[in-house]
Amino acid sequence: MLAAYISHDDCLRHDMGNQHPECPERIGAVRDQLLVTGLLNFMDSYEAPLASVEQLARAHTLSYIHSLEERVPREGYEHIDPDTLMNPFTYQAALRSAGAAVLGCDLVMTGKAAVAFCNVRPPGHHAERAAAGGFCFFNNVAVGIMHALEVHGLQRVALIDFDVHHGNGSEDILCNEPRVLMCSIFETGIYPFSGTVPKGSNMVNIGLPSRVGGKEFRAAVEHSWLPALEQFKPEMLFISAGFDGHREDDMGNLALVEADFAWVTQQIVQLAKRHAKGRIVSCLEGGYVMSALGRSAAAHVRVLIGAD
Ligand SMILES: [Zn+2]
Repeated sequence: MLAAYISHDDCLRHDMGNQHPECPERIGAVRDQLLVTGLLNFMDSYEAPLASVEQLARAHTLSYIHSLEERVPREGYEHIDPDTLMNPFTYQAALRSAGAAVLGCDLVMTGKAAVAFCNVRPPGHHAERAAAGGFCFFNNVAVGIMHALEVHGLQRVALIDFDVHHGNGSEDILCNEPRVLMCSIFETGIYPFSGTVPKGSNMVNIGLPSRVGGKEFRAAVEHSWLPALEQFKPEMLFISAGFDGHREDDMGNLALVEADFAWVTQQIVQLAKRHAKGRIVSCLEGGYVMSALGRSAAAHVRVLIGAD
């Protein structure tokens, strides 16, 4: 059984302007590295479907979904906030990104894929139940997780978020959902300036100060995440895979390297094998320096699919 690689060309059509770091080239940077490293040979490729309103509405309010659709511009840009813009293709791309998480969930749950990696944008973890922000429109992992709970009937799903920014949107949607444990690690003092005080008892938040590297990152994961995950015994895991904690990425100030992303993925894979029949769906979040993003994503996928 192969791993699934899920993406869609619509993800390239969402564009927030020439100078915007969350750019269409990110998809190619990841895909190119998966190609040149040969990792795509170990994966079945799938086109991301459009998420349905019913699927989105498990994580977002109907009024928010409809208001976003109504704001799609015919041309030019619609500013949701100073950093989060819609062009005529944004809504379609956001539906594909959320749809990828749903398809990944279905493929893994039905045994058609061992694990799934979603190379999609816009990212999702800053999207709250009723608000876009931080380059995010729909919360892809939250939509996937709610699908796992409501359609596949799982009782315990874990979300792992190692993006350099706190996943405030995922926390907003999933806090106090007893069937979910969210483990996040992020840099404090940067956008979205949240997370140091968890919103719910099902949140394991690790805030790291600026300039921290892999040694501290790994120690914090071992100390806080792993015991909580062992106790929770998730039946499936979703990953908000952000690579902007890389030392070359100036969107944050952490000093992680490819080996750190491989290490944390290994911890997740081992845990999934012990408790969740290996079931993991990983969705791309941040990562804004093309070379570091591609190399980090490849290091992550290599371990995720067991090619290491
Ligand atoms: Zn980020």
